[in-house]
Amino acid sequence: MGQELLTSIVESTDDAIISRTLDGRILTWNRGAERLYGHKASKVVGKHIGFTFPKDFPPDIDDINEKLRRGERLERYVTTRRRKDGRELVVDLTISPLHGPDGELTAVAIIARDITYQNMLMNRQREFVSIASHELRTPLTALTGYLALAQSTKDSVQANEFIGRAFMAAQRLTKLVEDLLEVAKLEEERVVLDVTEFNPTRILKEAIDELGLPARQKQLELRFKNDLTARDRIKADPVKFHQVLRNLLENAVKYTQAGGRVSVTARPAAGLIRIRVRDTGIGIDEKNLDKIFNKFFREYTELSVHAGGTGLGLFITKQLVDRMGGSLNIRSRRKTGTVVTVTFPLVPARRQRTSVRKRPSAKRRGATMRKKK
Ligand code: ADP
Repeated sequence: MGQELLTSIVESTDDAIISRTLDGRILTWNRGAERLYGHKASKVVGKHIGFTFPKDFPPDIDDINEKLRRGERLERYVTTRRRKDGRELVVDLTISPLHGPDGELTAVAIIARDITYQNMLMNRQREFVSIASHELRTPLTALTGYLALAQSTKDSVQANEFIGRAFMAAQRLTKLVEDLLEVAKLEEERVVLDVTEFNPTRILKEAIDELGLPARQKQLELRFKNDLTARDRIKADPVKFHQVLRNLLENAVKYTQAGGRVSVTARPAAGLIRIRVRDTGIGIDEKNLDKIFNKFFREYTELSVHAGGTGLGLFITKQLVDRMGGSLNIRSRRKTGTVVTVTFPLVPARRQRTSVRKRPSAKRRGATMRKKK
């Protein structure tokens, strides 16, 4: 009974449990190992375990045996292994010795856990912290610098000017922190999307209205042509959808010289809703178009240096659109302008009528989706 129970525990656990001889021949291979490595026990028992090592990976069998002989049990041994489909896995191994009747080391038991995903998140976090601290330093230095200057001058007009600059640096800092937090949430897959079906017209109008003042201040013409009808609906998170439009419109206004034009069009097209934000601004250099969605990427032109920004807006925008099942694409030409096209699948008219009873699937790749009550 005890033996049967043990066998059923070994077979039902999610961990891969393997045993091998000292020279690497596989003795047992549980279901967890079948799932983790993609090889069936019937095909691998009796074979050398070398097929689980990545190509060009120095085999660590001798090394491990040596440690076990010295009486060590290897815990949290993090290494790389290979699946049947060729994909590399980061695994956390616990390796223990199996002894014969005279106490001699005869075989090895390995428990393997797949930590590829956690490892990727950890690496991203590390990279994020190092970039974030670097990026935060610039506005912080400006902020403290201007405050120190304001404190040291006896001229009140000059002091006010320095305080004004410190204030602007503080605003840049706030924007950077907000964007960094959003990026961190996206990278750790902590963004929760409140997905619902809606007609995008109202949000489009709101986002355009919000940019009315900065556009007027720059003497930009702001146009909106809406060909959507009330029946044209998309399934997305309205707050994030608003954020996407706002980011794109802010960029269009920011990177267009005084007297230029920013126009937004929205129309249904072949099962999609297509929204275009077009500007007559400075444009993006063709050679930079493939980098434009990278974190912290900014082009350094006279206008963009003056306009300020974090280089995170398009990264966030693209991630949000992708996670809501839409697509985003940019065409641009230097000194001519930029066209950003965002598309979302149109909710079919038939589905809309039944949507009250039939809740659409909330699962989408890369993000947790919550359906609005
Ligand atoms: P930010 O605007 O904060 O710098 P973004 O990620 O929104 O960051 O944009 C990255 C870069 O792409 C900008 O710095 C700018 O050089 C360029 N860019 C984005 N949108 C436009 C646009 N409409 N016209 C010209 N350049 C743009």
